Amino acid sequence: MKKIRTRFAPSPTGYLHVGSLRTALYNYLFAKHNNGDFILRIEDTDKARFVEGSIENLVKILDLIELKYNEGVFVDNDGKISQKGNFGPYIQSERLEIYKKYVDKLIKNDYAYFCFCSQERLEEMRKEQQAQKMAPKYDGKCRGLDKKEIQRLLDKKTPYVVRLKTPQEGFTEFDDLVYGKIKIENKVIDDQVLMKSDGFPTYHLANVIDDHLMEISHVIRGEEWLPSTPKHVILYKAFGWDMPEFAHLPLLLNPDKSKLSKRQGDVAVENYLKKGYLPEALLNFILLLGWNPKTEEEIFSFDEMIKRFDLSGVNKTGAIFSVEKLDWINGTYIRCMPLEELTELCVPYLIEAGLIERIMNYELRIKNKIQNSKFSSRGGSALGWKIQNSDKEVDFDYLKKVIALEQERMKKLSEIGELVKFIFVDKLDYDKDLLVWKKMSFEEVKNNLELAYDELEKIDEKDFVKNNLEEVLRNLMGREGIKTGELLWPLRVALTGLKGSPGPFEVASVLGKGKALKRIRKVIELLR
Ligand code: GLU
Repeated sequence: MKKIRTRFAPSPTGYLHVGSLRTALYNYLFAKHNNGDFILRIEDTDKARFVEGSIENLVKILDLIELKYNEGVFVDNDGKISQKGNFGPYIQSERLEIYKKYVDKLIKNDYAYFCFCSQERLEEMRKEQQAQKMAPKYDGKCRGLDKKEIQRLLDKKTPYVVRLKTPQEGFTEFDDLVYGKIKIENKVIDDQVLMKSDGFPTYHLANVIDDHLMEISHVIRGEEWLPSTPKHVILYKAFGWDMPEFAHLPLLLNPDKSKLSKRQGDVAVENYLKKGYLPEALLNFILLLGWNPKTEEEIFSFDEMIKRFDLSGVNKTGAIFSVEKLDWINGTYIRCMPLEELTELCVPYLIEAGLIERIMNYELRIKNKIQNSKFSSRGGSALGWKIQNSDKEVDFDYLKKVIALEQERMKKLSEIGELVKFIFVDKLDYDKDLLVWKKMSFEEVKNNLELAYDELEKIDEKDFVKNNLEEVLRNLMGREGIKTGELLWPLRVALTGLKGSPGPFEVASVLGKGKALKRIRKVIELLR
């Protein structure tokens, strides 16, 4: 059996679109599922749309989300672009001679022709067609130029393009692995430009030649290319080549069913990563945009994805891109993460939110500490940050406790600053009414907080931990006949200032005795 080879063939026009990431993922999964090869080819034949640095950016993202390819374009450690594989070059602008050779062949065999029409003429023709409500299509003026005339124009250095000589009768048909049999009348197919006046091929020509020469077995790409595929089929036939299998992927839609676009929301993969969606969660979400596992399952590990993916599970209908669903999946992954790892990932977001800052000469200080310390070889290596606008230094274990407070609730890493701000800030703003549980009076709230304060004050700093706090306060409520909500609600609000937050015992233990008591005292005074 022929080796399965798929390719991801992005154009380096800036950011990586989430739809392109889906294309890359499906190509990857299909290749890996079938022990095949996955290739990265760069389609940079549209010079006007080229954006400097986008190849590097693309490779970086694929690397980050671990979609590893066997051949194609890589970026070395020193930032230089390199290529690996037996079918290179994998950057189309480096293959111009190859395209030229094949275009000449097409012209020679009368499957393509020179077109000397000026931009002005084409523009006029387009306007005319628009006015008559006709689909835009080249009118074939240069199809029948005789050899002499062509030579004369070439000798005069008249600018030209090369066009596909689409058959004027009959049908073009092919089988799509997702959309089934596609059959289209040749007379509606445009005489596509294959080579532009600057000697660069168009996407259509380059794509067909490369897929053939790179022995691509399956072309898996977005549905927007389905209307172009008949042109590609005509080209394969003109060259006398076997066609790859085609599989087109359904459109991505906004929740209102309009086409997913930059105007309505974010479409750049890099922005999702910046917001703190985990690469594995993002892939899991993207997997389900158009592929159906035929069960109710929604969470798939990477290995499971490879095991389960097949093209027969790809839907025809547009897939709704729901950020809510992405949040849910991301939250699920966050909850399953080891706390250590999650904390490491959250640190940059805490810094960005202005809650903590790195201690600048930290390395140096640690070194001095180690040198001056008689006992410890670790020398306080746990220190590394300080709370912004304060002198309080915090270590990784402390940050772990802070993150643990929110691990259950967090949807994405970038939320962490907002969620845990209340721990770090010096002063909280209180909404007095929020302190009240049900029909309590301010007086009752104050009394209960005073009782709690007195109990908590008696606890030793080192015993100021969740279980102990819980025991002490539950005893207090039992003794005084206070209902749970009547104590724990005002207490939690006093500690956090928030309507929603983790429970008071966890929060108090992370705040520590000093800070917790200070906050309770402040509220008691507020209620006086
Ligand atoms: N360069 C095209 C794109 O960026 C590739 C289309 C294809 O896969 O054939 O969408």
